[in-house]
Amino acid sequence: MPNSVAREGRCPQEVTSAAPTAVQRRLPGAATPREEALREYQDFNAKRRSRIPAALWPFWAPDPEQFYRWRVQLECGCITEVLTNGSEKLPAEGQGYDPLHKGRLPAGQVRCSHDDPPPAPYRNIVAWGERREVSFPADPVEPPDWTDAESWAVIRHDEPHTSAFWTVTLSCGHLTEVVAPDLQWKPTNGPKRAIAKRLPKMKAAFEEFWASDPEGQDEHKREHTRRMLEDGWPCPRPEQQCHTCSWAKWIVAYQRVGWLVPRKPEPKQPKTPKPPSRASLQRRLRQAEVEAKQLREQLSELDEETASEKNS
Ligand SMILES: [Zn+2]
Ligand SMILES: [Zn+2]
Repeated sequence: MPNSVAREGRCPQEVTSAAPTAVQRRLPGAATPREEALREYQDFNAKRRSRIPAALWPFWAPDPEQFYRWRVQLECGCITEVLTNGSEKLPAEGQGYDPLHKGRLPAGQVRCSHDDPPPAPYRNIVAWGERREVSFPADPVEPPDWTDAESWAVIRHDEPHTSAFWTVTLSCGHLTEVVAPDLQWKPTNGPKRAIAKRLPKMKAAFEEFWASDPEGQDEHKREHTRRMLEDGWPCPRPEQQCHTCSWAKWIVAYQRVGWLVPRKPEPKQPKTPKPPSRASLQRRLRQAEVEAKQLREQLSELDEETASEKNS
């Protein structure tokens, strides 16, 4: 049994060893103005919040105050911006989301789609995950555009049928789904292979197809087909084309930008008053003595008035 079907689990150690170490450095160009970055986040968050109950906003659609901004350079050379929760977590520690396969990307990868990417690479399956069954109606009688009537007659399902799909982790750390040869099949069974005596005929048929239609399959796919023929035409294929590799790119460098919402300045500590100077104390004492003298005079005037009223 090949190693690829012997392991279970989602994130094997060998997957993450390919991650480059991102370095902090000054990157060319300038950050998006903060107001613009904040507006973009708030527009995005408003859409997200419209689909999420308010009680879950702190977890799934948080306020912008907690986010810190970074500029990052990717392995493809592109420079983009990312947010982290707080200023301590580095951008390469964050895990993006693969919406198609509903799983996390390896830490340190972000989306960067290019118009004309190279063919998606083939990656070995390193772990088997969840299984689901999908039911299909009978195929139409008319052949689809991508095949001729003769081939369609062989592969067409003339009855409704159910297939089992397994989510697998590839050696790059990305997820994909493969179809099982039948509903009873389990990864521990290992791939089913073509009958050995059929293989030379299959090889000859492919060589004939490639010779007659040079555009029919690019070299990248032909090499995969040759490897699979050499391996006895296994099903499921132990190597799968990874389309996520076309857009998930490693962060190779990063630069701090700042908080998405500026921090409020620290409240100033009230100053402890300076002890008064000797001159100031003397001035205050003289003032107090003058006031005391005036009060004594007023009191004695009052006493004199009271005495004269009694005597009259
Ligand atoms: Zn790019
Ligand atoms: Zn991949």
